[in-house]
Amino acid sequence: LSVSARVVWDENDEFAGAALAYKDVTDFMRALQVKDQFVASVSHELRTPLTSIHGYSLLLLDQEDLPVQTRAHLSVISRNTERLQRLVDDLLHTAQVDEDGLHVERSDTDIAQVVRDAVHAAEPAALTHGVSLSVDAPAALVVRVDPQRIAQVVDNLVSNAVKYTPAGGDIAVRVGMDGTRVEISVSDTGVGIDAADRDRLFTRFFRARHASEREIQGVGLGLNITRSIVEGHGGRIEVESEPGRGSTFRVRLPVVAGARHTDEG
Ligand code: ADP
Repeated sequence: LSVSARVVWDENDEFAGAALAYKDVTDFMRALQVKDQFVASVSHELRTPLTSIHGYSLLLLDQEDLPVQTRAHLSVISRNTERLQRLVDDLLHTAQVDEDGLHVERSDTDIAQVVRDAVHAAEPAALTHGVSLSVDAPAALVVRVDPQRIAQVVDNLVSNAVKYTPAGGDIAVRVGMDGTRVEISVSDTGVGIDAADRDRLFTRFFRARHASEREIQGVGLGLNITRSIVEGHGGRIEVESEPGRGSTFRVRLPVVAGARHTDEG
């Protein structure tokens, strides 16, 4: 049932009572459930063939004696398959979180290495975009987090920084302790974010005008997923930005003692 309530005043502005309206939303909730299950199963079914297409395109690209044009065509197939894989993964993640909540599987993780790996993975894209990437991390920083999920967070923030920073820009990624918390920050010298948009960045499917105007690819799920993972770890994410000058996304995670083996958030 959905309930809405309203206080009723009489003509002398005296309290006359309250009106309650009950609405049966069973059908609506059932439709939402069907939609979530549909998105989850379609995404799941798309994953296997996509993995196979991507794998074989990489295998073909590995051959040395390919004609130039064939190589170019294969690269397009491979790149677009990767895009589709990312989209499918994001949809699947979103549907799964809606269905069961976010599962956080903590283990002792060198978060400095996770950050270095994510930056390393973004290097080809940074090179293509003509932006420089630097990372400032201690030799090792072991904390109890979900390594895959935290890798996804850094990956999302770094690939956004690359996407929204024009050629010639710089991206700086840092990880370290800030008091009792782990802090990961990703700063760019990119297009920045209008103050009015900052609160909406983390909502599902939100994209600022600069993203669609510049035809930068994306669907607006990345930051929503990022926030759900950070909050699933008991942490917080915030953004500072100056339009036209750049943005800094900062993630702070509490340090969790290793008493329990796994945690569900
Ligand atoms: P997507 O990149 O797929 O559009 P996200 O959820 O990752 O989705 O980001 C939502 C929106 O936030 C983007 O469309 C973009 O407008 C804005 N945004 C995210 N990161 C940055 C950044 N580093 N600089 C400027 N704008 C950004």
